[in-house]
Amino acid sequence: MEYLPLFFSLQQAPVLLVGGGRVALRKARLLIEAGARITLVSPDIDQELETLLAQHAGTWKQDIYRPEHLAGFVLVIAATPQREVNSAVASDARSTALPVNVVDDPELCSFVFPSIVDRSPLLIAIGSSAKSPVLARLVRSKIEALIPAAYGRLAAFTGRFREAIKKAAPGQGQRRRFWEQVVEGPVGEMVLAGQEEEAARLVQRYIDNPGQAHSLGEVYLIGAGPGDPDLLTFKAARMLQRADVVLYDRLVSPQVLNMARRDAERIYVGKRRADHSVPQQQINQLLLDLAQQGKCVVRLKGGDPFIFGRGGEEIELLAQHGVPFQVIPGITAASGCACYAGIPLTHRDHAQSVRFVTGNLKNDCVDLPWAELVNEQETIVFYMGLTGLPTICSQLQAHGRAGDTPIALIEQGTTAHQRTLTATLATMVDLVAAHTVHAPTLIIVGGVVKLHPQLSWYGESKEPGSWPAPPGMV
Ligand code: SAH
Repeated sequence: MEYLPLFFSLQQAPVLLVGGGRVALRKARLLIEAGARITLVSPDIDQELETLLAQHAGTWKQDIYRPEHLAGFVLVIAATPQREVNSAVASDARSTALPVNVVDDPELCSFVFPSIVDRSPLLIAIGSSAKSPVLARLVRSKIEALIPAAYGRLAAFTGRFREAIKKAAPGQGQRRRFWEQVVEGPVGEMVLAGQEEEAARLVQRYIDNPGQAHSLGEVYLIGAGPGDPDLLTFKAARMLQRADVVLYDRLVSPQVLNMARRDAERIYVGKRRADHSVPQQQINQLLLDLAQQGKCVVRLKGGDPFIFGRGGEEIELLAQHGVPFQVIPGITAASGCACYAGIPLTHRDHAQSVRFVTGNLKNDCVDLPWAELVNEQETIVFYMGLTGLPTICSQLQAHGRAGDTPIALIEQGTTAHQRTLTATLATMVDLVAAHTVHAPTLIIVGGVVKLHPQLSWYGESKEPGSWPAPPGMV
């Protein structure tokens, strides 16, 4: 982080504004909204700015800026059209550790102004580390559209009960979960609908009966998708914000992990082929133990938790012990890789069904019902199939699938490193041998693979093995 976002209380605080033109006017308006007492230094002043100051008990010192003007202020803003003046203000302020902003000159600033979505008391500040104010404003307009105006009312409502709830629910995690239930549950809905007194009665009931429904921990088994963090569901993103602790493994991308609540504890539980860092049983037990400590536990799993994810095993123990849990689906590797590689899993001309199969080796042999996998009109997706690739290719042919059946191997699908190799059952093993392949990889077999050159990004026809990263992912 290049900057630390902070919320600065300026109620009745003395702030110095150097400059008397339209730029200073814009800043003066903002400062007044934040409750600051403005002193303005400038040899001349914009008419409107003068009126504004007069209306809000501001002071205009008709003067040329001098270092002595800085004494006694908590913040200074330089907004003159002369860079030398702005620069002098900045260096004088910095020499006394006074926070300084020079409008539109981030190099001279010790702090910058964010774009603001104001639902007071709820405030959302968006910054671009002074790299792209336009982008920050764009994000702001999206958030403006997303957040109902009544959210300010909801924030004010919760403020009314903060102290009472602090006493009733002393544990921090317990309190946070309580507020989440308030804000996201029926109480929040009532406040948004203007029924504040009814909502207040409900909160009072919680205060009189604290902890009962809130002292239990809970577990969210969340599908993190195949890699691209944008493929996370809204629900997954929301739940990640609630986590006290996150258990994750190798398939979960760092960007997804970064979406967890900042101070959530992160526990790596491994899972590489032949490197089960934490044995499955221990993971199951850990989930249970953490939940029984009253924590909100998020178990992040690559793709979808219920597709080759052992998600079922992980919640079995929780169910036995009556620990509340939710499973949040994710985009499975087959969907993610197929879409990003331009290989429709079904297609009227090529495949009427699709089958997800594990290619995981048991004692070095892929033990699969090969005779069922030879339908030319079915797409077969092999998860964990790289090591067994030679067996997969030879067994499918031995059981009757044509040697020229198209096959694709997608590496690190949906990430910036995605690469697709295409060949046939007869030639794929040699092609893969000629490349360095990086896990995780997914194998797709069937006529639909023929569509890859037409339907992958940009719609270009490409040589087998070449695959440009999609726009924005390099
Ligand atoms: N639950 C996961 C699958 C776990 S099994 C899901 O629904 O996707 C692990 C296998 O998934 C890997 O061996 C690989 O075959 C596949 N896989 C997961 N992410 C992948 C990715 N980004 N690209 C290619 N294959 C992936």
